[in-house]
Amino acid sequence: MAELSELFAPERIAVVGATDREGSVGRAIMENLIDSYVGEVVPVNPSREAVFDRTAFDGVGETDADLAVVVVPPEIAVDAVREAGEAGIRSVVVITAGFGETGSDGAAREQELRAVAESYDIDLVGPNSLGIMSTPVGMNASFGPEDAESGRMSFMSQSGAFITAVLDWANEQGIGFKDVVSLGNKAVLDESDFVESWGDDAATDVIIGYLEGIDNGQRFIETAREVTQETPIVLVKSGRTDAGAQAASSHTGTIAGSDEAYEAGLDQAGVIRAESVQELFDAARVLESQPVPERDGVAVITNAGGPGVMTTDAIGDSRLSMASFSEETLDAFRETLPAGGNVYNPVDVVGDADNERFRDAVDVALADENVGSVIVLACPTAVLDYEALAEDTVALQEQHGKPVAACFMGGARVDAAENALGEAGIPNYFDPARAVGGLDALSQFRDISTREYQEPTEFDVDRERAREILSAVEDRADTRLGVEAMELLDAYGIETPEGSIVDAPTDALEIAEGIDGDVVMKIVSPDILHKSDIGGVKVGVSHENVYDAYEDLVSRARNYQPDATIIGVQVQEMVDLDTGVETIVGVNRDPQFGPLLLFGLGGIFVETLEDTTFRVAPVSRPEAAAMTDEIDAAPLLRGARGRDPVDIDGVVETIQRLSQLVTDFPAILELDINPLVAAPDGVSAVDVRLTVDPDRL
Ligand code: ADP
Ligand code: MG
Repeated sequence: MAELSELFAPERIAVVGATDREGSVGRAIMENLIDSYVGEVVPVNPSREAVFDRTAFDGVGETDADLAVVVVPPEIAVDAVREAGEAGIRSVVVITAGFGETGSDGAAREQELRAVAESYDIDLVGPNSLGIMSTPVGMNASFGPEDAESGRMSFMSQSGAFITAVLDWANEQGIGFKDVVSLGNKAVLDESDFVESWGDDAATDVIIGYLEGIDNGQRFIETAREVTQETPIVLVKSGRTDAGAQAASSHTGTIAGSDEAYEAGLDQAGVIRAESVQELFDAARVLESQPVPERDGVAVITNAGGPGVMTTDAIGDSRLSMASFSEETLDAFRETLPAGGNVYNPVDVVGDADNERFRDAVDVALADENVGSVIVLACPTAVLDYEALAEDTVALQEQHGKPVAACFMGGARVDAAENALGEAGIPNYFDPARAVGGLDALSQFRDISTREYQEPTEFDVDRERAREILSAVEDRADTRLGVEAMELLDAYGIETPEGSIVDAPTDALEIAEGIDGDVVMKIVSPDILHKSDIGGVKVGVSHENVYDAYEDLVSRARNYQPDATIIGVQVQEMVDLDTGVETIVGVNRDPQFGPLLLFGLGGIFVETLEDTTFRVAPVSRPEAAAMTDEIDAAPLLRGARGRDPVDIDGVVETIQRLSQLVTDFPAILELDINPLVAAPDGVSAVDVRLTVDPDRL
């Protein structure tokens, strides 16, 4: 491991606040460490001569330890860490609570703790942590009741209590761990640090975690996307973070909450997201022990019709599919299966199948090149020996090198077979959906590990002009801009229709006369966010109606809000909506992940339809292209029902250019281009709305 090697493999551990007082945390940690740790444990306690027959030191500075575990009260914990730092100790676990989780005094203390850790370059876990474990050195530096068994998963959790529950259960299930860390308040080391370190650790095959939040989303994405090229990461993310203090005034802001950001961010990071603890471990176990499938076709071999159908349904709900067999496979099944059998997938070897018939069918299926993985699905019968079937399954899995999942149904009679399968890394489930879930995770990881990340394109843009336009908010009471900021899009090479903003009807007519055909007229006011809601957009205005339209727009605005600031009226070229599709491209800022891009079906019904997809910016071209592919209305873009396909490349480029704009200007808090009309001959940003933070310009 590159960075945290001392933390997880220390030679000498000082327990600061060690004691043998019954029921204390200091005692629990001492006991856990004395139990099985291969290195030396030294107690630090100035008011004791000895703790558990070990000479107690007065201060951590005298211990010559390379890891300090701090359990003293919060008032003296920071001093203890400072003393450790002065003595050259570079790894510290702060168990002590009473920091950021307890209010403003605690938050100030945590600030101080962080500063001390930074000044001595300490890898610090916690505070408010249950502790850490590492099985290769037998280290349980936690106050949990349970030791971890050794294994090849490394586990981080933002809840300490959850670790104790998981270990209790995992020990019973025979699930082992390499390292375990209770993240606590993450004052210094956070999830990205552990992901990075375990990514380099040859003894960690799978990284799993329970997180309530991610501190620095951008760093997490960068770190995890690299690690997941080799090491799978499976996470349960619970809880919702505060979606930012500012009230949303854009569509994107309304639709994009923190969960959308996590979903997008974790996906871009290459993380497999589990919805429950069961899913977490089901995925982790197969990822630890089985190869990834080369293709997504699954063969189901069963001696029972009903469960076969259940499994087929579960496969239908997953990213996997039922394999279709080659002619040779079908011939082989026809030859060996009795009359009542089914040679097509799911293959029914019939209720009277003995071990040999079952075994041969699994063998034939695994040999078929259309088959990526196999589910062995069995119900107990008088002629079938579960243990022998388990042995055959294990042997065939090894022989063919393809992933195999087992569903041997039943109760106590499955136990022995289940153990044999489990030891070979084939978890057995009663429920076919769980077996499918495991294979699904393997398939997901195959795609993640072969993803190729590209750098975002850097377009040639007019950054200075963009800054000038954004600076307009500095002289205004309002931080929101509307179509008066249209030139911002021009500066970043995003196509807009011809048009201008005027503040007199005569000027409106002059502009209209310079435009071919009818025009669109819109009220321009920072107080009117959704113009069409108040009748503030007039489409298809002929030149002779421009005067009246102007007066009408202004009086509608006045009726809506008598003191509204009216900048004027925009006169704009008509865009052809008959051949085009109204889409929305927007951005919102997430407190953890930063700029979150949205793409979806646009127009005035965006929030009603919510056909949208998200990515954390900046995005590369393939990521932007994937967005246009993901929405339900994607077929509309490709040209449904005899319509010409729209300029999807133009949409993709617009997403990329917006991505660059919001990356260049953190001052843009929210922005909607709605609609971006995507037509066969190009795209056009017809409307824009944004909120700017002048302090960040
Ligand atoms: P708002 O979103 O504030 O109501 P928009 O400028 O988006 O105002 O206009 C509302 C709707 O009017 C658009 O979704 C589109 O259907 C139509 N529209 C606006 N501008 C044009 C235009 N230049 N050409 C054709 N239709 C337009
Ligand atoms: Mg609009």
